[in-house]
Amino acid sequence: MRQLIIASLLAALPWAASAAPTWQTISSEPGKRIEIDRTSLKREGNTVQAQGRVVLDKELTDVKSGAPYRVIEAITRYDCSTRNANTIKRIYKRNENELVREEEINGSDLPVRTGTLDDKVLREVCRPPKDSQAEIAQKANEAAGQLKAANDALLKKELAKAEKPAAIKASDAEHGGIPSIKPNLKTQMESARAPAPTPVREAAPSKPATYLVHTAPTAAPKAKRPARQEGYMLELAQAEPALQHAHIHWDYEGVGGPENWAKLDAKNKVCGIGERQSPIDIKDGIKVDLEPIKFTYRPSTFRIVDNGHTIQVELGENSISLTGKTYELVQFHFHRPSEEKVNGQRFDMVVHLVHKSDEGQLAVVAVLLERGTENPFIQTLWNNMPLEKNSPVSPPTTLVDLNTLLPTARNYYTYMGSLTTPPCSEGVLWLVMKQPVQVSQDQINIFSRLYRNNARPIQPSSGRLIKEGR
Ligand SMILES: [Zn+2]
Repeated sequence: MRQLIIASLLAALPWAASAAPTWQTISSEPGKRIEIDRTSLKREGNTVQAQGRVVLDKELTDVKSGAPYRVIEAITRYDCSTRNANTIKRIYKRNENELVREEEINGSDLPVRTGTLDDKVLREVCRPPKDSQAEIAQKANEAAGQLKAANDALLKKELAKAEKPAAIKASDAEHGGIPSIKPNLKTQMESARAPAPTPVREAAPSKPATYLVHTAPTAAPKAKRPARQEGYMLELAQAEPALQHAHIHWDYEGVGGPENWAKLDAKNKVCGIGERQSPIDIKDGIKVDLEPIKFTYRPSTFRIVDNGHTIQVELGENSISLTGKTYELVQFHFHRPSEEKVNGQRFDMVVHLVHKSDEGQLAVVAVLLERGTENPFIQTLWNNMPLEKNSPVSPPTTLVDLNTLLPTARNYYTYMGSLTTPPCSEGVLWLVMKQPVQVSQDQINIFSRLYRNNARPIQPSSGRLIKEGR
């Protein structure tokens, strides 16, 4: 009897028995499942280090080694109070036992985006264990009620403001460029009232709410636990309608058109008076040897949204490096025709890949698109095009690899410019790839159905230095 008790205790405590990981599935979707190894958890204050993994149904090819893999393990430190994650190591495996590659990562703390692997693991490891289901449900109801009241108040205020002239919703920069889902409701509401000073998004900066919409099936209102620091459970999906209703659109034609952007709001002033604005006609550059851009792009799941100004896509964990600096990919989006000209010539379309360094510097890689053969990368995106504006689509198992969008020649033009959408902030490093890539007429037509013209007119280059890679 005694032996039996000991045996069952041991069985219940697998971590006591050996150091081998005990994988527990925390999320299962078509094509993949997400698991964590509970024996790996190391807690220290608000921080939890955990080992998680994605197990795919189908093998992918590792871009670095060319070997197939199906399991991606990651050792990550999660900060439960700030919802930041810092991945320390990534391990690619062909199966349980066959190692493909290990990657030590010298990353910094990054905000965890909703719906990602990190999001799921973070929710799991940061969840306080004691709350009963009933308690959680009650808190969810309370939080939803508070949120609705706050939104109603905001909506009223914004609508009142919108009736006055020159009012535009000020909300460009709450998130510092990287979509933050640290849902501090108070900050959200406050920044929606007062113009934020430093806009950082290159396009469609005026819709932060789109980042807050939780598209995963888990989007039901989550409980905020005011007594603790775990505000991360609060989703702001419900804040969006209020912000949208209050928003007066800038546009590419009509009253909201580019010639009026500066007048729409004081914070767009630089759209009118700036002297380093984008786009420009790229010509008369000095021909020099430019440092190659190091693209650290990898197959990633994505989130695609029609934000009312363009089609915009967000991917996790992609970056570029240049002059010793790393810029994380924030989002990319499309313009038709290309905003930039090269030697007086416009292209059919352009993709702007917006990256941001830790210090907040923006670097935009522009890939020009010209009519030709069908582009598989773009086709995958178009296949998943959202049916409605501001309703993001996050295909759970479809991966895109930005490496396949880049032209084969990596030469580029570079100059300092601005965001090409209000508030037109300057200090943006532009990297315009010289070689265009092809996209089919059908693919252009599909985009045209949504946005026939979403290109800002050419701005004076005012003697700016343009470099052209030889
Ligand atoms: Zn753009």
